[in-house]
Amino acid sequence: MNAPTQIQYLKGIGPAKAKLFEKLEIATVEDLLHYYPRTYQDRRLGMPPNEYNSDSLVVFKGRVLRTQTVPARSVLIFKAFLEDEKGNQIECTWFKKRTFGRYNFDPFGTLKKDFHIGSEVWVIGRRENKNNFFGNKITVEEQYAADDVLTELHAGRLTPVYALTDGLTNKQFRLFVHEALQTSALAGEPEILPPALLQKRKLLSAPQALKAIHFPNSLAELTSARARLAYEEFLLLATAWGIKRTQTKILAKDYSYEIKKNLLSPFRQNLGFEFTNSQRKVINEIFSDLCSVRPMNRLLQGDVGSGKTVVALCAMLLAVENGYQAALMAPTEILAEQHYFTFKKMLAGLPVNVAVLTSSTKAAARKKILKELADGTLHILIGTHAVIQDDVKFHNLRLAVIDEQHRFGVKQRSKLKEKTAKLDLLTMTATPIPRTLALAFYGDLEVSTISELPPGRQAIITETATPKLAYDRVREEVSNGRQAYIVFPLIEESEKISAKAVTEEFEKLKKVFPQFRLSMLHGQMTQAEKEKIMADFAAHQTDILVATPVIEVGIDVKNATVMVIENAERFGLASLHQLRGRVGRGEHQSYCVLVPQHAGSVAKERVDIICATRDGFKIGERDMQLRGPGEILGTRQSGELEFKAGDIFKDRDILYQAIQDRDELLSQDPGLIKPEHALFRRKLQELYQKNWHLIDLS
Ligand code: ADP
Ligand code: MG
Repeated sequence: MNAPTQIQYLKGIGPAKAKLFEKLEIATVEDLLHYYPRTYQDRRLGMPPNEYNSDSLVVFKGRVLRTQTVPARSVLIFKAFLEDEKGNQIECTWFKKRTFGRYNFDPFGTLKKDFHIGSEVWVIGRRENKNNFFGNKITVEEQYAADDVLTELHAGRLTPVYALTDGLTNKQFRLFVHEALQTSALAGEPEILPPALLQKRKLLSAPQALKAIHFPNSLAELTSARARLAYEEFLLLATAWGIKRTQTKILAKDYSYEIKKNLLSPFRQNLGFEFTNSQRKVINEIFSDLCSVRPMNRLLQGDVGSGKTVVALCAMLLAVENGYQAALMAPTEILAEQHYFTFKKMLAGLPVNVAVLTSSTKAAARKKILKELADGTLHILIGTHAVIQDDVKFHNLRLAVIDEQHRFGVKQRSKLKEKTAKLDLLTMTATPIPRTLALAFYGDLEVSTISELPPGRQAIITETATPKLAYDRVREEVSNGRQAYIVFPLIEESEKISAKAVTEEFEKLKKVFPQFRLSMLHGQMTQAEKEKIMADFAAHQTDILVATPVIEVGIDVKNATVMVIENAERFGLASLHQLRGRVGRGEHQSYCVLVPQHAGSVAKERVDIICATRDGFKIGERDMQLRGPGEILGTRQSGELEFKAGDIFKDRDILYQAIQDRDELLSQDPGLIKPEHALFRRKLQELYQKNWHLIDLS
């Protein structure tokens, strides 16, 4: 393959622009070619403008009849009147803010150059008066001179629209992509797919597909391009998993388990409840994995509150009974702490040493933990990803449990596995992956499902309400001795900004509920502060906990019966479901009150789904459809498995073709050593070997 061409090679991209491209993870011309459009606008010339319905885009090509500049108080307005070949007329308007202090500057300068009387132009815009069905006045979004050859990139076609960052416009971006398509990079774009498969599935060649995904000449061409690129993505990933599966099979454990029950029996007796049938079934499945010669790789699915933690604890106790160490990795410090306290409580009186390790563990405590891990004094370690730091060395770690696995990246999971060559791995999630997908991709992954909740749980009433009604609900419940959560969304993905926002809301809420005891929790607090706040809330020293989504997973306070979610439309489905799962944990009727602010259509759909559905698995499937699989499979952070062209739901047929072809490919050429597979193999290496140590293709 050719050496990658840096993006700055393209005309018009200097260091400043390159920085913007970096934000989109585009470093090379090849990256740019593989940065596919988010969507397409239909800018083919169609109906006369007065037949467009109110919201659709108006695309018009015509000659300039006359123009006007209209000075107004705070804006400048430029107008052009156009007529097309058939005599349709249209009035176009551009608005610009007045820029004070630059009196000689005409913001419409370049526009006026293209729009002189008689010149032929394209305009793309929206109708000015949406209700006036026959109106032919539009506000222009983009315009082009018809005699410019590059105009055909933007107008009169299915036009690509990219997901961009501030400082880059689609107009510019299309030109860069066009230039990239002209470079040798495209000519040198190697065909990585084996020729036999290309023929069998009648796929476009790589250069054809890339050209067509950006600038399709027809919908049919676009469909073929997407199919080719989706197939390629699916085949690469499926093959990677396929190879990994064969490699894992060869390994056998050099340690074994025996069910001794010297810890398990007293543990069960102390528990205070009976396992549900579902829990019993999955514990058996896990134990039989542990006792087999192959390392376990099992996914434990179970709805929020179904009792996955005790199941994990049973598995960990089996490891400890056999003289091994076990680790549990949780996505947040609060959850790790919570698990630690749960474990301490449930293991009271048993000779099992447990510790918790997070990034806020003090140096001295950390040192002690590391020492005891290394000499084997410590049996169970709970923690965040601090557990997989390089200096954390275990004496004999044999079982690793990953809670809420969808929150971790593939890299983190493999890193845990690297801690020791052979390891039994249990991952847990309330956001399940459809079984077919899991099997197809992971291949070796077994799935256990807890399909019932512990007895005596009340169904949570989910409602949408105005803030006032939501606060009435809080007031009523707290007056009856219950407790409530009020959660605000993360703002711009930043805990820092969110902390500030939630602090302001907290001050307001104190005035709304002067008679109650309020406390606040957010990610910027120190570990000690967080612990104190949580402990006080659990002990009913406070009534209302105002928080960011840091409390999303794991918090378990039975007396809390109201969960108010502010700006509910900002949360994803899985988050809403997790948050709702924080209430309804005790004997009292509980409520989840969603307070939407502005609801877009997807947002509204999410809120509707969450109100209508209690089944976490159904929610999980819908969530995947709304968000795409990358995020849910836990790969968004590491960006390795994100599908750019493919969609496992819409392109299900292609997915299954790819899986079938993968199986044939690997059965004919397991090591991919035939010359016709060389480029495919190289691409696999490039994609997966760098970051993903589990695949050994060398
Ligand atoms: P999740 O599956 O969401 O992680 P947890 O493991 O946190 O659920 O369990 C939720 C609550 O249910 C905990 O308080 C736990 O002690 C309790 N629980 C678990 N199993 C049972 C059971 N069989 N009977 C009664 N309560 C149970
Ligand atoms: Mg849990």
